[in-house]
Amino acid sequence: MMNVAVIGSGTMGNGIAHVFAQHGFPVSLIDINQPALDKALATISKNLDRQVAKGTLSDTAKTDTLGRLTTFTSVAEGVKNADLVVEAATENVELKLNIFRELDQHAPAQAILASNTSSISITKIAAVTRRPAQVIGMHFMNPVPVMKLVEVIRGYATSDEVTERVMELSRQLGKTPTEVNDYPGFVANRILMPMINEAIYSLYEGVAGVEEIDTVMKLGMAHPMGPLQLADFIGLDVCLAILRVLHEGLGNQKYAPCPLLVNMVMAGRLGVKSGEGFYSWGHGTKDLVLAERFQK
Ligand code: NAD
Repeated sequence: MMNVAVIGSGTMGNGIAHVFAQHGFPVSLIDINQPALDKALATISKNLDRQVAKGTLSDTAKTDTLGRLTTFTSVAEGVKNADLVVEAATENVELKLNIFRELDQHAPAQAILASNTSSISITKIAAVTRRPAQVIGMHFMNPVPVMKLVEVIRGYATSDEVTERVMELSRQLGKTPTEVNDYPGFVANRILMPMINEAIYSLYEGVAGVEEIDTVMKLGMAHPMGPLQLADFIGLDVCLAILRVLHEGLGNQKYAPCPLLVNMVMAGRLGVKSGEGFYSWGHGTKDLVLAERFQK
């Protein structure tokens, strides 16, 4: 079995560590401090309990899964025996470039280095290593244990062999890998973010209110939730950052972020994580807020 190391134990990192460990891979989970790692282990344990309660996982499988996880606060220590590293640290270019320089130095020469980035160029990340053919995007969706897709992103120099191995590994996790090339936003966000931006423009221009826009897309297009609610879940700051990557990287005005989105982010209304976005999340309920106030 390949040894897997996961960098970053936040929302995505703990989910990625969870699925690899559940499918039999020994996993080193790495973060900058022990409290972040303790929190991740508690989250994984709670999520495994949910699978046990649903009858999709046995008690023994839960214990075995937790037994395959080891935590580290040092990248050098955590990756020294890794065959595959999946980086899921904070979405910041400089931070990721530094992490990949460090990974290149400390991970075995044959190890594959993958990033779960939502929007940073895999080609750019690969270029700071001495092994660009072994650098690839492995873009999991949130929540990782539930969502079936892995968007596998080939950088400019990624080899066929590494791509095929990552596709196969994703299948071993019970996921459906989909191969795409490395251009801004890849495929998932290239299509999703303009849809969310257009929903915000529709609100901004007074075409319809928050609830009406979400109802049209939910019931009319059979989406599980409307684009404005989804934006609240993703985080409006994250949506804005990805739209800026599309706008700059593709140089087309059609990706320009809606001024209402820019204002809401400047006002600290970031969605679920700040308690308010297009909806109010403060009381654990989805009460509509007065989005009209933010239209112009
Ligand atoms: P998060 O903020 O929940 O977690 C990031 C973790 O990285 C934190 O625990 C932080 O302490 C850790 N970290 C920061 N610097 C580090 C370093 N030098 N070494 C080790 N750990 C470090 O973020 P997240 O939502 O899990 O996102 C992680 C990555 O996944 C980002 O690249 C993001 O774009 C991508 N992503 C996120 C989602 C999502 O829905 N949240 C979906 C797909 C992809």
